[in-house]
Amino acid sequence: MKSRAISLAFLVVSLVVTIRAQEKKMKIYISADMEGVVGVVTNEQLGPQGFEYARFREFMTQEVNAAIEGAFEAGATEVVVSDSHGNGQNLLIEKLPKNVLIVRSWPRPLMMMQGIDETFAGVIFIGYHTGTTNTQGVRAHTISSARLTDVRLKGVSVSEAGLNAAIAGHFNVPVIMVSGDDAVVKETTALLGDVEGAVVKWSSGFHSATTLMPEASYQLIREKVKKAIVRIKDFKPHKLAPPIQLDVSFKNYRPSEVLSYLSIVERTDAHSIRFKGKDIIEVSKFLEFIMTYEPALEP
Ligand SMILES: [Zn+2]
Repeated sequence: MKSRAISLAFLVVSLVVTIRAQEKKMKIYISADMEGVVGVVTNEQLGPQGFEYARFREFMTQEVNAAIEGAFEAGATEVVVSDSHGNGQNLLIEKLPKNVLIVRSWPRPLMMMQGIDETFAGVIFIGYHTGTTNTQGVRAHTISSARLTDVRLKGVSVSEAGLNAAIAGHFNVPVIMVSGDDAVVKETTALLGDVEGAVVKWSSGFHSATTLMPEASYQLIREKVKKAIVRIKDFKPHKLAPPIQLDVSFKNYRPSEVLSYLSIVERTDAHSIRFKGKDIIEVSKFLEFIMTYEPALEP
């Protein structure tokens, strides 16, 4: 009897220790885009052909660093970052702290959320922009400004923040903070509730904004991330009930024509197709496939 009581006591103690250890662990996921980074207004900042790209990679990296610092200061124990703009190779990895992991390049099945799973406590969006049906916001688009005019989930047009929040929601992880222009903060809080928002610039059109200076932006992001983590229990995962109907409208005519050859795809109008996914993961893979596949793919 006595030894049984002792082993029971031991079990309770080790259980409490394990729970405590789990409580102390806090994984944060950061998805980083570029259109919403401080000062970004046109393509000149957004890709290797732009005359300002090299400098703006630095600003993007420092905004991510500010988010990482804020997260660790507020109690995060692990951080995973996904480089989720353009070629997926924007962040200057030698300038990130050595205790984070980074997801780079494409294609990847969970797109801008690759690496997310149920072990994370919260998601942060850095450098985000409004969706393609929004009349406001610098470089408003969803997934591709060159190729898509609309992306709908269950009949509702989505931004990248909305789509990515749903992917995180699949794993029961809430979005806790977003940075970008005033329009994306407004759009994202309208969808997800009062997540913390860092407005680093005020859009005056698709290619114009009044902007903070980089140092001010880093400070604001660090503060908002800390604030979000302190009240992380306030945030709810953004869950879409399966199955999930996806509608995609292309700028051009032929993608919808050719995709409609597949029996899993329905053509809903000249420029649009519909796909029914069993969940958001299947939708994400389908989206990544249609944005990536071409017969000339190599290697
Ligand atoms: Zn984007």
